[in-house]
Amino acid sequence: MTQHLTGLAVSLLLFASTPAALAGTTIIHAGELLAVPGKAVKSEQTIVIKDDRIVEVRKGYSDPGEFEGAITVIDLKDQFVLPGLMDMHVHLQGQLGPRNDSETLKMSSQQVEMRSVMFGMRTLLAGFTTVRDAGSSSQEMYALRDGINKGWGDGPRIIAAGGVGITGGHADISGVSPELMEMFTSENICDGPYDCRRATRNVIKYGADWIKITSTGGVLTDRATGTGQQMEADELREVVLAAKRMGKKVASHAHEEDGIIAALKAGVASIEHGSYTGPEAIKLFKETGAYLVPTLLAGETTVKMAKNSDFMSPAIKEKAIKTGAAMKDNFYKSYIAGVKIAYGTDSGVSKHGTNAREAVLMVKAGMPEMDVIKSATVNAADLLDMSSSIGTIEAGKYADIIAVNNSPLDNIEELLDVGFVMKGGKVYKNQRLRHP
Ligand SMILES: [Zn+2]
Repeated sequence: MTQHLTGLAVSLLLFASTPAALAGTTIIHAGELLAVPGKAVKSEQTIVIKDDRIVEVRKGYSDPGEFEGAITVIDLKDQFVLPGLMDMHVHLQGQLGPRNDSETLKMSSQQVEMRSVMFGMRTLLAGFTTVRDAGSSSQEMYALRDGINKGWGDGPRIIAAGGVGITGGHADISGVSPELMEMFTSENICDGPYDCRRATRNVIKYGADWIKITSTGGVLTDRATGTGQQMEADELREVVLAAKRMGKKVASHAHEEDGIIAALKAGVASIEHGSYTGPEAIKLFKETGAYLVPTLLAGETTVKMAKNSDFMSPAIKEKAIKTGAAMKDNFYKSYIAGVKIAYGTDSGVSKHGTNAREAVLMVKAGMPEMDVIKSATVNAADLLDMSSSIGTIEAGKYADIIAVNNSPLDNIEELLDVGFVMKGGKVYKNQRLRHP
């Protein structure tokens, strides 16, 4: 009995701390609704939600009396409503800054995990209901993902990639003493095709949803090893094949075109950054159907930091300034040539919760607002093979819904101030309730 009561008390406590858990049916009156990005906006619509799913979208404002049982009505009549945004490239465990080195020495993995809960919430409250984490300390990330899915805590829906990289490459540890390097070297660092096959199987074994590789060097590797191709074609092929055999897709970080081409030829599903994408890579993107995840925000952030702060080494600064400039130009060339674009920020380089700034940069680079929103919803869901459950506001999908004051199709900066966030039918933010 005592045990029973304790259990009840705990569940009541959990319920009380859960933001606006809605039982039964919820209806949202949406003033303007972009249910399917890429298609027309509709005025005065009702979204019907049961538990965590959308049941139907009706014309006009339905009366609560039309439904049976307890009904919660959410009034977004003066709002622009759209599907929850999705960021295909975040690193929820860190944030670039001058104290990163000492944090690595001082923080326990448990503290890193607790902080990632905060970064996850910042992301969710900014309107990003789904993210693909592109590489973090693996068990801590999988625990965060699973904990959120089980309802033990709140945060965005996480698709977690496990990293596979080569010795001395961008995914490997750099910039610390040899003793620390040895201590921090992941068992998923591999050399040669068979070793990389092993590493790929290993990250899948321990819980990765995706595989993240680095076919070229990277800006933030503290070594003057460039941003060109680093993984060999045979290593890339083995990773993609081993992943495919177990039903997983591969994302490759790549800056220079040789590494983009090599990764696309091996069959990766997405290229991250793609800074020096040229005509040959564009042709391959279109042939393979792979997505480009541009991360313009990472380019902008690292260029600013390289110019205005002194915590980066000369090797990093030089790479940052060069790749940041190339990224913007080549992103637009790729888009206009018909390369599929999925939204990604590399948040963790930039600050968590500022993910919508990528949209502003994409529009500045020349991409129309509707296509930007599509890249962060419909396209991202397609890249994740999750189009049947997320990406639009349609019957059968998770109720991942956000709202802004005015149409982001007229002014993309509206996305910087998301006032309403629902994920899986649960309201996490409703600014209009706080200021009635
Ligand atoms: Zn990244």
